[in-house]
Amino acid sequence: MTQPTDIRRARNRPRLLSAALGTALELAASGVPVLPLRAGKVPFGNCPACANNVCGGRPNMKTAGPCRCPAPCHGWAAATIDPDVIDSGPWRHAWRGAAAVAYHPGGAGLTVVDLDDAAAVAWARTALPATRTVPTTRGEHWIYRGAMRSVNAVRPGVDIKSTMAYARWLGPGTGTLADLPEAVRELAVKERPTARPVPQVISVPAGAGGGECRHRTPAYLERGITMAEQRIREARSAIHATVYRTFLAVLATHGRCGCLTDTHVARLFTAAQAKGETLRHCTDAWTNARTALGM
Ligand SMILES: [Zn+2]
Ligand SMILES: [Zn+2]
Repeated sequence: MTQPTDIRRARNRPRLLSAALGTALELAASGVPVLPLRAGKVPFGNCPACANNVCGGRPNMKTAGPCRCPAPCHGWAAATIDPDVIDSGPWRHAWRGAAAVAYHPGGAGLTVVDLDDAAAVAWARTALPATRTVPTTRGEHWIYRGAMRSVNAVRPGVDIKSTMAYARWLGPGTGTLADLPEAVRELAVKERPTARPVPQVISVPAGAGGGECRHRTPAYLERGITMAEQRIREARSAIHATVYRTFLAVLATHGRCGCLTDTHVARLFTAAQAKGETLRHCTDAWTNARTALGM
């Protein structure tokens, strides 16, 4: 508390708004970028100025944008180590309603192997080197030193959270932090389409065809696809489920008359892939949605 700014902040903040804010400031001071989570343990929704990403998104997002919004919006991309941001007006407002603290593992040079249940934990004990572990509601987070691409569902009940992702902060855990092992990197590689390079090739039928056309005009279909892309783009959690439900909705509305083309499907897959879904997951979700609709 020797720096003037620290003294000023201490005076202005006689006591912390919440335990969450205190935890967040502590983590940030140790170099871990943080963000608040609202009820449901998901990031706060984008503020009106950033709704539908009209702001272009933050500079550190996959598609770099100019947004300098002071609010904790844009999901993981809002995560910061700057105490002045974390303790700013818009963020204080969020901390007041925060249900949990999250961090951006990739931004801290970490990878979290999120093991959802006992079966996943049992698998990790046989397949991965020991490291620092943190108990979660039904499973464990295994944390490694080193960042990598985030991939959901690399195995049943196993997600990899590092770059472009957030994880709940559930305490420091126990055990010694180990270097990110090849075994974890390989989990993500296996998820990529293998063999020949497959650049966005859609090998699934767009629609059944032969049905009665319900969308009347190309503009109606276009609007439907645009809305579906948007729904996927704005999903903040449960990406898998959102992608599947969106595919299901598109197929239910536009899938039976044959008007849906490969180009439309490619747009939906591209939106899903931008959220970290693999081509294989997209293909599976599409196939499953068609099966569910009896197509
Ligand atoms: Zn923004
Ligand atoms: Zn914003």
